[in-house]
Amino acid sequence: MKTAEDLRQLLNRIDHRGYPAYKDTKGAYQFGKYVLSIDHVQGDPFAAPSKLNVRVPGRIAGFPQELYDKAYKRISLQDYLTRNFWSQADQYSFQAKGSGKSGMITVTRCGQEVLERTACTIDEKSGDVIIRFEVGFPANGRTINARELIKILYDFLPACVEKALCYRRLNPEKVQKVMELAVDQETIRASLKEQNLVAFVANGAILPRESGVSQRPMKGAVPFVSPKSMEVVMELPYKGRITGMGIREGVTLIVGGGYHGKSTLLKALEAGVYPHIAGDGREYVVTDATAMKIRAEDGRSIKHTDISMFINDLPNGKDTIAFDTEDASGSTSQAANVIESMEAGAKAFLIDEDTSATNFMVRDELMQRVIHRNMEPITPFIERVRELYEKFGISTIIVAGSSGAYFEVADVIVQMDRYVPKEITELAKEAAKDYPVLQLPKDGAKLPSFDRKIRNNPGLKNKGRIKIKTMGKDGVMLNHETIDLRYVEQLMDSEQLNALGNIVKHLEENVFNGRKTLGQAIEELQNQLDTQGLKAICDGGYLPGNLAMPRKQEIYACLNRYRRLGTSRG
Ligand code: ADP
Ligand code: MG
Repeated sequence: MKTAEDLRQLLNRIDHRGYPAYKDTKGAYQFGKYVLSIDHVQGDPFAAPSKLNVRVPGRIAGFPQELYDKAYKRISLQDYLTRNFWSQADQYSFQAKGSGKSGMITVTRCGQEVLERTACTIDEKSGDVIIRFEVGFPANGRTINARELIKILYDFLPACVEKALCYRRLNPEKVQKVMELAVDQETIRASLKEQNLVAFVANGAILPRESGVSQRPMKGAVPFVSPKSMEVVMELPYKGRITGMGIREGVTLIVGGGYHGKSTLLKALEAGVYPHIAGDGREYVVTDATAMKIRAEDGRSIKHTDISMFINDLPNGKDTIAFDTEDASGSTSQAANVIESMEAGAKAFLIDEDTSATNFMVRDELMQRVIHRNMEPITPFIERVRELYEKFGISTIIVAGSSGAYFEVADVIVQMDRYVPKEITELAKEAAKDYPVLQLPKDGAKLPSFDRKIRNNPGLKNKGRIKIKTMGKDGVMLNHETIDLRYVEQLMDSEQLNALGNIVKHLEENVFNGRKTLGQAIEELQNQLDTQGLKAICDGGYLPGNLAMPRKQEIYACLNRYRRLGTSRG
């Protein structure tokens, strides 16, 4: 392998030359304590910065194995190291000068969730730590300024690596705390199943966020306190015994006046499928990992989806067993979201009236008298919610402040009162007694058919290639095809969309063949993701540093919104 000295000589040779001469630096160099690889060199100083990685061998990084001997511990240590490296790099970024992005040093900026990412990976066997980051190679105008790059690679970077990634330079108590939190969170997750809960919200949790654009905890918020009747205990290996609100399997209704904190609670439950960092306020808010937010999404496409559980006998005679549309209505989109989430294995639905189609959720008594049942194609969710639980084991947590209709079908009713939950099941059931009972449809819900076979779509390629571009959290483009993901609300990070782009490309190129169903294709992929991690979707061997793992549920959600998905039936 070439050495750091070789690289220095090369840099001295190309100093003051035209920018493209930087391309010669591509390669791996032994830097004493670690190996620096220059994977991709930018074309000019204004382009996206160059991509590098550093591999620190396990014996130098020096992390005790019990900090990463389980996948969830490893993910949380990786997350911590990425944050460390970010703060180190941030101090040195643009300290080296020049035009355009000259001198920039950056790595993934992690949010409140702890996600598996490619920015930092730890090898479970060797303990090697790899950090993947970006550097703007310095120039004056378009002329190479190698002195400035030497500063970055020989002064700044060794300091960042040392201070961010080497155990003996870190505060061992802090690193220990990171591991302890991960173990405690995992314990709660396991304990949900044992106690037949779909979610747990610890007393003292801070649920509201700082603002619409900041996911940090709100300052001065009212801390969460469980109603006594819903209190459950979690025995955590490190934090010890904690109490909080346990939401049982079944149908849970959250009611309350406007602005009393209903949606805030539901949002926290949506995010609770992921672990949160210390200080977030939602560290001990944990939701069943398969839980899916279900909402209306007018205008989305639906491909050969069996929505007959909710929609039948459309006036235009359209088939609802293999329903197809390029432009769904509120109710059909929400029905499709339910069915697709069932296919994706969701064991809990999270629904907020704020983002639901009213005609999908309820139909009131008076309307039923005037418009007879057989004139109405929609079987509202309220008539299926119990069956979903009793037949298919899917629980629902639903926020409904404006209609009492769900009182009758709920197992537990919680009122949010000035941000404090109260259990009012008995009171509400009592009040509901005087109202006509809900008429259920004659036909029970049948398990939808999930037998769509997926062909690949050769037309997607452009000059033999599929280029991926991500638009923040809004969507992902594959060549000219846009997949709109704005309403897939549990995608928490744009890097998950980067991964989804790669996943669609990978499936199109390697898996879809007209014989597998969507479910089979995704199962196959999921197995690879479980064993190989995100490498599985990076064809060509190079692992970019900007991918984060999506859940299986979001992989389904993404493919179901992909307008060129090559579906056919049977
Ligand atoms: P609802 O859905 O019941 O109408 P929201 O959940 O939207 O109410 O909350 C209304 C407002 O109250 C939001 O601005 C939210 O940030 C704030 N809020 C929610 N929970 C708390 C809390 N625990 N402490 C302080 N403010 C809160
Ligand atoms: Mg609301």
